Amino acid sequence: MKRYDYLKPYSVEEALDLLAGVGDTAMLIAGGTDVLVKRKLGQIDPAALISLKSIPDMSYIKENGMLTIGAMTTHRQLETSPLIHSRYPILHDAVKNIGSVQIRNTATIGGNIVNAAPSADTAPPLLALEAVARIRGPQGTRDVPLTEFFVGPGRTTMQPNEILTELVLTRHTSPCGGAYYKLSRRAAMDLPLLGVAVQLYLEPDRQTIRQARLAYGVAGPTPMRAFAAEALLEGRKPTPEILDEMAQAVCQGTSCRNSLRASAWYREEMITVFTKRMIRLAMERAAT
Ligand SMILES: Cc1cc2nc3c(=O)[nH]c(=O)nc-3n(C[C@H](O)[C@H](O)[C@H](O)COP(=O)(O)OP(=O)(O)OC[C@H]3O[C@@H](n4cnc5c(N)ncnc54)[C@H](O)[C@@H]3O)c2cc1C
Repeated sequence: MKRYDYLKPYSVEEALDLLAGVGDTAMLIAGGTDVLVKRKLGQIDPAALISLKSIPDMSYIKENGMLTIGAMTTHRQLETSPLIHSRYPILHDAVKNIGSVQIRNTATIGGNIVNAAPSADTAPPLLALEAVARIRGPQGTRDVPLTEFFVGPGRTTMQPNEILTELVLTRHTSPCGGAYYKLSRRAAMDLPLLGVAVQLYLEPDRQTIRQARLAYGVAGPTPMRAFAAEALLEGRKPTPEILDEMAQAVCQGTSCRNSLRASAWYREEMITVFTKRMIRLAMERAAT
């Protein structure tokens, strides 16, 4: 196996300097659960890996009006956070089923987002929670809404000399509820065939939807929101007729493909089934 340099900065500034110095041949590494697999498969061949692990203060979950999550926060930290469990169940649903406990102890939310797989399990909940990616680069800090972050399979708007530092999530207004479902072929460790995320904000009657956020994984080349379907739900009660109309709009707005793991037809059928189920679950959670 070819040798590579392993660089260990102790601050974001030092990491940015290293990125600038080593250039395109270097790659950032967080938990390494994507990077090291890709390297072993020969899909990438970086001359240097710059580890973010020794940088303090990149791993945190803070609620201070907004919810901010450090890019180096592991899935296991999110899974075991009482705040995420009680106030952001949509995200808890997603992280608790990523890989195995060993993977969740190592893999980070930042790595999941920057890796930008259409199947990334945290992407649909973060899209539904209207997360913003905070990115540091040589020119300073910039904020990119996640709706503009993913540009293709494995591709984002980030430049090679930039670092994702945190994710900033919208302020919750009560009553609200959210839910995420990962459809996979087996209950054990598996990537999703489809990911369905629903976040609902209700009127005080707790029956009328004031604002709906629907987001999907593996329903197109990137994780995506279903804007037209969201608009159909807003200001209405989720009756069976409205839910049928909504499901049709989601399928028109997504672009499921045939793959070895599932056909486009099956994915569309499942979008209909699981969006309705997640809406019902989100309504139930909002009521408690
Ligand atoms: C056995 C196994 C099971 C898995 N199961 C799932 C699953 O169920 N669901 C799922 O979604 N994923 C799954 N994955 C994929 C992987 O674990 C996740 O995508 C994970 O969150 C990646 O995080 P990481 O910290 O390991 O990223 P890394 O591998 O370290 O990095 C991934 C990419 O992000 C970049 N990067 C990382 N952090 C930053 C940053 N802060 N700023 C800029 N760039 C950065 C790296 O340069 C690299 O391009 C699985 C992987 C394995 C090996």
